[in-house]
Amino acid sequence: MKIKMISKCNKEAKFIFEGHASYANALRRVCMSEVPTIAIDIVEILKNDSAMYDEILAHRLGLIPLRTDIKMYSSKGKGPKEVTLTLKAVGPGYVYSEDLKSRDPFVVPYFGKMPITYLDQGKELEFSCKAILGDAKEHAKFSPCHVTYKSYPKVEMLSQPKNALEFMNVCPKKVFSVENDTIVPKNIEACDMCSLCSERYPELVKVGRKQDKYIFELESFGQLEPMEILEKAREILIEKTKEMASKVK
Ligand code: SF4
Repeated sequence: MKIKMISKCNKEAKFIFEGHASYANALRRVCMSEVPTIAIDIVEILKNDSAMYDEILAHRLGLIPLRTDIKMYSSKGKGPKEVTLTLKAVGPGYVYSEDLKSRDPFVVPYFGKMPITYLDQGKELEFSCKAILGDAKEHAKFSPCHVTYKSYPKVEMLSQPKNALEFMNVCPKKVFSVENDTIVPKNIEACDMCSLCSERYPELVKVGRKQDKYIFELESFGQLEPMEILEKAREILIEKTKEMASKVK
């Protein structure tokens, strides 16, 4: 399989994947459910005067994405296995994820302004919690990202239109451009295969999909950067393949 990056930032990555559909699906599944992250797992509530039940509060805390140092924390022997976070607040006002105090300065909420609850005048909230490393096969709160992919579009010009502007304006994604007085499908990766062009001008253009070529979009929830997720997914896939090969012998 081959990966070519189209764009990336610390939250999202878009890339072209070339390989069999089964590998594309394996990569998507491993990214979403087997790459480990840190999430709050045990909460000890010392005082809760908010309108929210302890159980709901604990559930909300579990869903706060925490930055994860994937090289330091490990579920297999090396490195610490858990981090303690505490919170103490007095109303009035909202209690936000940024109010959590972590023992590890790296393991902090990715989004500071996630509201946890609201406290009225003089009401108090105090708890201590433990965050552990886990994966989404165990619980969805450990999932690091959302991944989608679509087939790579194939847009072929069969002949040139009489009215170029009218033809090009049919495409909502602006896929077509003019090069040397000829209309060519240029911005192919933007095509969503809506077939508007081929339905309106079947004699001019043909739309299909490429075999074993996909466009992936990965959106991180914040615990890990997209490249960290992909790197870890690659490691996991290699490990799984080796394990399978050893069992076949
Ligand atoms: S299929 Fe839709 S998006 Fe793709 S080139 Fe045709 S009109 Fe544009």
